[in-house]
Amino acid sequence: MKRIIFLFALSLFPGHSFSQPTAGWLRSNTPNQKHFEIRVKPFVDLYFFVYKISSGSATSPAIEGLDQAVAAARQVPIFLPLINKLALFGCDNAADAERAFGQFPENFKTRTGGMIPLRERAVHLARALSFIEPAFLQKVWPQHKAAIQQANLRIARDMEPREQELFAYFTGHLGFENADYVVPIYLVAEGPWPAALTANSDERKHGACLVNVGDSQGAHLFDAILHESIHALNLETEGNGNVLADLRRRLLEAGFDKNDLVVREGPHMLVFIQSVETVRRFCPNPSGERYEEVRDGTKRLSYFEGLPTVASIGDLEVFSVLRRLARAAATLHA
Ligand SMILES: [Zn+2]
Repeated sequence: MKRIIFLFALSLFPGHSFSQPTAGWLRSNTPNQKHFEIRVKPFVDLYFFVYKISSGSATSPAIEGLDQAVAAARQVPIFLPLINKLALFGCDNAADAERAFGQFPENFKTRTGGMIPLRERAVHLARALSFIEPAFLQKVWPQHKAAIQQANLRIARDMEPREQELFAYFTGHLGFENADYVVPIYLVAEGPWPAALTANSDERKHGACLVNVGDSQGAHLFDAILHESIHALNLETEGNGNVLADLRRRLLEAGFDKNDLVVREGPHMLVFIQSVETVRRFCPNPSGERYEEVRDGTKRLSYFEGLPTVASIGDLEVFSVLRRLARAAATLHA
């Protein structure tokens, strides 16, 4: 799952309204081309809303059939409709989902060796979502839409004018200069942990990102978008002067095992550092909060205080940085 779902990772900018681009990968490597594209689909919002309720972290509104939809969701791991050809993101409504999920493999083998009748369960889920979709659109979506619009206004105001600088900064530091892909960022109002993720299908190297704006307050919204964009572009540039891949290689050459925490989490720490550093450098923070304190109380970023940016990690410094990363990672996972 780690390989295909990365934790913590469309046009909704003013004038674009809630447009719904169709599938298709856009190229970003032309002057002034957009690097990310905000996408909003009520059905994707519904999907993550039901999974939030199924995780026990939200109260259920009074919608007939919602309990059955939640029960159906508990039978299908949330990530499977994301990684199966990124099917979920192509769906505009539950009827689309029923057709798309009907193309899934008949069975899915879990990491523990169990077998899930994936197609049957996923189609059952789509039908359960279809039953509640009208009530969701009437009772829940208006508030969700407003929350998403609010977040998107902040993105348009504080990120869009600096988009070229933001992406030039982190792609240059991470060795992603050849990335040529407009990253799709789907916004939803609510969802289960994590607040953002990047999904990649086995068939395509391009990822699609999801950001739950309800759990991405303050500057964390911008950080989440950049963090997931790094994951999406990492999929595209892997192994090609890519700093994250290079760091992993160096750790292995230094004698760490591939299962050691620092090998598994070290490159990801650089994703955290680089995204936060980029936001801190380019995006104003009207609330005046320190970025390290914005991130939802996990204190995760406080471990990065004083760490150099990826750009300043040279050959001589890298192992002292990694020792600190290893300590931070051990603390995070204690
Ligand atoms: Zn991540």
